[in-house]
Amino acid sequence: MTNYSRKSLEDIGIHSEDPRFKNFKNTKDFTNNFITKLNNGLLEISNWTEITNIITDIYNEVKLDNDGELPNYIPQLSNIDDSLFAVTFVSVDGQVFQLGNLDSKFCVQSCSKPITYGIILENYGEEIVHNFVGKEPSGRNFNELCLNEDNLPHNPLINSGAIMVTSLLEPDKNQAQRFDFSFSYWKKLVANNYLAFNNSIYLSEKDTADRNYCLGYMMQEKMAFQNGKDVKITNKIDRKWNIGDLQKNLELYFQFCSLDITILGAGLLAATLANGGIQPWTYEKIFKCSTIQHILSMMSTCGMYDFSGEWSYSIGIPAKSGVSGLIYTVIPGVGGLVTYSPKLDKIGNSYRGVNFFKLFSKKVNIHMYENHVNTEKVIIKHKEFNNKKILGFLLLEASYNQDLYTIREMIAKGCDINFQDYDNRTALHVAVSEQKLESIKLLLEFKASIELKDRWGKTPIDEATNDTRIINLLTNSDETF
Ligand code: GLN
Repeated sequence: MTNYSRKSLEDIGIHSEDPRFKNFKNTKDFTNNFITKLNNGLLEISNWTEITNIITDIYNEVKLDNDGELPNYIPQLSNIDDSLFAVTFVSVDGQVFQLGNLDSKFCVQSCSKPITYGIILENYGEEIVHNFVGKEPSGRNFNELCLNEDNLPHNPLINSGAIMVTSLLEPDKNQAQRFDFSFSYWKKLVANNYLAFNNSIYLSEKDTADRNYCLGYMMQEKMAFQNGKDVKITNKIDRKWNIGDLQKNLELYFQFCSLDITILGAGLLAATLANGGIQPWTYEKIFKCSTIQHILSMMSTCGMYDFSGEWSYSIGIPAKSGVSGLIYTVIPGVGGLVTYSPKLDKIGNSYRGVNFFKLFSKKVNIHMYENHVNTEKVIIKHKEFNNKKILGFLLLEASYNQDLYTIREMIAKGCDINFQDYDNRTALHVAVSEQKLESIKLLLEFKASIELKDRWGKTPIDEATNDTRIINLLTNSDETF
């Protein structure tokens, strides 16, 4: 068993605030779930340093171009230092990598919406929640004055939908209790790290919220809050709606948008969503798996405003953006990757954030429809990493069996023709030593190396002994590896 020091653990992403390592001195007299996984090669990301180096390179590249504009429709947001830029990656095993302005605190804005939606789903379940809000992208601006054909908001991640969802949050409690109820979820998601309420942002938004009021009145006029889509379903929850409720719910919605967080907190939150609702530092189960699935589906189709289709096409992971310049993304089963940079592009997403994720998805196989074997990209998922190994072993076995179909299949699936097993043996070593001529021919056709040495220092040619047919095959190959 390897013995790790605090320093070596920091190098693989153990953060000083990680509660699992509060009493850590060295691994001799300390053990926890993380250390066990580490020692057994079971961490979800087996190439941590490679991934963090890629993040660093892309961060440095993207930092140079700070185009875009600060939003001015919430006045307080236009006073922010526009040079800020930070990125955080938190794995589902709770490792953290961070760069940039890590001390900045910023409000979550629209990034609150998936969380409020999740809380309501936990409370009411899908049938009730979606009796009040749709599941379709609106194809319109996030605060556009429009409803769907049922006179309901299109989805929970645009303003009208988030206002609707807020109205379902513990409606029988008073405002303070409702705020606290949501806040307690947030506190758990950030593992008790920094989280606050930004009063000046709240006041600034509240005073300039004509459009959100308008959305609220439009829904109230259509009886959307009162009746939902199907009154029979609505009656299951004894829904009440009184004069003054609209005002209260709008205020609560603005308050959720005004929650203040750090990039670390946003990373921990995103990693919890990536980890099936289990907080990676505390192991607390915050959301059910079904809730996570619904949140991520919504983020995939509606999380990036009018850029959601384009994002899903080229970047391909669930994401949510807020006008404060935050983007959090979820790589399911792997981690949460988050950027913060306040200048926005024309659609309202962080300019640098979008550029960062475009480059990252080009380099690393995070896209949800990426074929997990046949890819030129850096592999981030441990299972896929292992899959490559399995393909390698199958290639060796197929070469031994002279199973030419399987050899072709393994190569087509992206297996390295020169894969070496635990003894550094390649498929060609095996085929030569077993005198499988057809395997040898095919492997050479795929440019297998004749020079790689196994654990005993032998190349495939060394194995050919006196078999002239094989020696001829090998020496006539134009392989020059
Ligand atoms: N509080 C903002 C609003 O309602 C949130 C918008 C956003 O981040 N897109 O307008």
